[in-house]
Amino acid sequence: MLDRIQRTPAAPQTPGRRALPTFDALLTLGLGAAVLGCGPDSTTSHSNEVPSARDGRQTRELRHFGADQTEPYRIGDSIFQARGVGNTNLVVTSEGNVVIDTGLPTQAARHRELLLAASDAPTRYVIVSHAHADHAGGANRWIEDGTEVIAHRTFLETQRYLTELIPFFMRRNKIFYPESVPDVPMALAGPIFKRLYPRVEPTLLVDDQHEFVLGGVRFEVIHTPGAEGEDSISVWLPERKVLFSGDLFGPLFPMWPNLYTIRGEKTRFAIPYIGSLERVLALQPEVIVPSHFEPIHGAERIREGLVRMRDAVQYVHDAVVDGMNDGKSLYQLMREIRLPEHLALSEGHGKVSWGVRAIWQGYAGWFHESTTDLYAVAATSVYPEVVRIAGGPDALAEGARARLANGKPVEALHLVEMALAADAGNRAALETRLTALDALLARSGDENHSEVYWLRHQLAETRERLGD
Ligand SMILES: [Zn+2]
Repeated sequence: MLDRIQRTPAAPQTPGRRALPTFDALLTLGLGAAVLGCGPDSTTSHSNEVPSARDGRQTRELRHFGADQTEPYRIGDSIFQARGVGNTNLVVTSEGNVVIDTGLPTQAARHRELLLAASDAPTRYVIVSHAHADHAGGANRWIEDGTEVIAHRTFLETQRYLTELIPFFMRRNKIFYPESVPDVPMALAGPIFKRLYPRVEPTLLVDDQHEFVLGGVRFEVIHTPGAEGEDSISVWLPERKVLFSGDLFGPLFPMWPNLYTIRGEKTRFAIPYIGSLERVLALQPEVIVPSHFEPIHGAERIREGLVRMRDAVQYVHDAVVDGMNDGKSLYQLMREIRLPEHLALSEGHGKVSWGVRAIWQGYAGWFHESTTDLYAVAATSVYPEVVRIAGGPDALAEGARARLANGKPVEALHLVEMALAADAGNRAALETRLTALDALLARSGDENHSEVYWLRHQLAETRERLGD
């Protein structure tokens, strides 16, 4: 089912015109990160057994990806790519061009210039894989009179909430992309972002599937939800066996999907994601063109990666459901559920234990059968009293150190937080906090970008409070 939409005049963005230079840096890697699906500055995973990045590529290289590109990269006959934090793909046909994903708003002008060298024919279609700014951000640069702009039906709702919550997401993104998000007053974040990244107005909303033929080339737009949001679509060229996958696989392939991202956003669901992987498997692609990094070539390599991702998500999903039905607690399941060896995947972007939590809460929400869950009184409200009864913050800090010595940094942190609730400047507690965070960072193996950047942020904050 399709919805044809009367286009309201697009915000004026003359094709090829440079975006507001003062704010370029803000947007390219700054405000743009407010709605990025995968950050431009991710740390790599270095799992030994599993190819965690394509041919050893590290996701933190995204922020420089394509910076030295001087001509359109040719993927295949009549398929070209301009590269950046998010790529822009161009399919040239005898009846005009199809643009698939459009990169960040501030990289869009350069992408357009690069791709015009491949073809300056009219843009007949712009297809945006989802509403994140590193995919849809450059769309308005490509829209001409008569251009059909295709997105999923849920694109508009996703675009709405991501825009309404810009200050919230900005606060988080300052933590996860500290080099990229500059200091701007939160009151200005929304207006600046909206000016640089005007709404994308689709003209055609797709539900499950939509096909069209242009210049003899068949395009199949298919709904592939579950990875970076419900509004995710992919584009399949059946004659060429090429799939433009947007962010269906994230920045790495294969990897554990980012079912919940701690920078915020709605939870993504495991079962629809498995459905998306099944759907792609049935197509038997020979080339996958994701919107981050290079294409992936080779039917067998692709199939093997898809099967492993599908089976891993199913395994974890089923383990969570079994555990819920057996009455196990969320925390027990987060501790217990691990991917078996043959399903090991990179956790550089998503993390299995957070996926467990996402699946649990996706089904059951936030109530964990504690009466206090039901009322607006946090456990922290009684921490000062607990500390007094225990003999003061130093006693708690001592307990925390003992936990640390026993290899229990999270338990140590719980005790430290109590001590600091009673005395925010308590030196023994802050120093123990520092050691506990260091222990967690070491334990992280520098693998998961979000975890690593959160811990680094907490370390910096603790050092600041210590006056170091
Ligand atoms: Zn992305």
